[in-house]
Amino acid sequence: MAAAPLPFTNNPGLSERYQSLDQRGKIQAEYIWIDGDGEIRGKTTTVDKQVKSLKDLKEWNFDGSSTNQAPGDNSDVHLRPVAYYPDPFRRGDNIIVLCECYNNDGTPNKSNHRHWANKIMSQKEVASEKPWFGLEQEYTLFDIDDKPYGWPKGGFPAPQGPYYCGVGAGKVFARDIVESHYRCCLHAGINISGINAEVMPAQWEFQVGPTEGIEMGDTFVVARYLLLRVAEEWGVKVSFHPKAVPGDWNGAGCHTNYSTESMRKEGGMKAIESAIEKLSKRHMEHIKVYGEDNDLRLTGRHETGHIGSFSSGVANRGASIRIPRHVAAQGYGYLEDRRPASNIDPYLVTGILCESTLLL
Ligand code: ADP
Ligand code: MN
Ligand code: MN
Ligand code: MN
Ligand code: MN
Repeated sequence: MAAAPLPFTNNPGLSERYQSLDQRGKIQAEYIWIDGDGEIRGKTTTVDKQVKSLKDLKEWNFDGSSTNQAPGDNSDVHLRPVAYYPDPFRRGDNIIVLCECYNNDGTPNKSNHRHWANKIMSQKEVASEKPWFGLEQEYTLFDIDDKPYGWPKGGFPAPQGPYYCGVGAGKVFARDIVESHYRCCLHAGINISGINAEVMPAQWEFQVGPTEGIEMGDTFVVARYLLLRVAEEWGVKVSFHPKAVPGDWNGAGCHTNYSTESMRKEGGMKAIESAIEKLSKRHMEHIKVYGEDNDLRLTGRHETGHIGSFSSGVANRGASIRIPRHVAAQGYGYLEDRRPASNIDPYLVTGILCESTLLL
């Protein structure tokens, strides 16, 4: 079977010769942000010396009319650095800089949901409960011709069954990409907690967490960025669409595990149940920010609860909210919101969970 054509610039052996050149103390800072369609964008600036704090990084800008973030006649959007990480691609002291987007008049750009989430997370009622999250990012790999990676040309693989946590040729596809992404996350200091092959062939999952407050969204966006960049090197596309392949194939979600300090201590089951009760009253408000095209995934089949109704249960993978079996057994811990789609904005999801359970 012919391999996907590689982008013509993809020659790691050749570029290594240049990448090992001395950069003479200058630092490359890759500023990244979320654009008007929820996609990640990035551009680089040179910094004169090693970056030791956010203060060493300038506020920058870009042409928002090219990213669906601003009109052409007032196109400057400002990039405000909020966190930075070691860059596993350029290595050394080079960094990835996560930014929030602001309009010319100082208001947050329409793509900037971190601004809102940060306000929620900073409230006393929320911060004092030390909210932890664990996000399970499911995604699907496609070759350059938009065929699920490794699927037979003009046909389908055998039905689902052997692929989830699969081992061996024919059961898993592109493990090298997944492993490389994992190591990049560790290098960048992302709190990645694991990976697994998913139910549909060419579908994978990584988990980040438990991570507290606004840092959850930050590290998660960077983990997604690293995945896109790693797959780019192989000429492979990453889809975060919740129903990447139509038909009898599992969709992709972003299960959001959530706990507060009250839930994590002995007797925490009461706090978990009270949070679920509050969540049941705001089902549609949550669904609204739980990802586009999520209706294609939350059908009540393929290990999902139906989008139109709220449900919860111990160890129930067909419910909106699942209480893991071990949590029910020990009487404290966390809950899993199974509704969020794979293409969520993590700030909207972590923000509304805190709002609904701690502020209303
Ligand atoms: P699943 O069994 O649903 O596939 P995973 O192992 O993929 O679960 O993901 C569980 C996630 O929950 C991990 O990211 C883990 O770090 C996170 N997690 C564990 N404990 C907590 C907690 N107390 N609060 C929030 N998240 C947690
Ligand atoms: Mn220019
Ligand atoms: Mn999982
Ligand atoms: Mn999964
Ligand atoms: Mn899960």
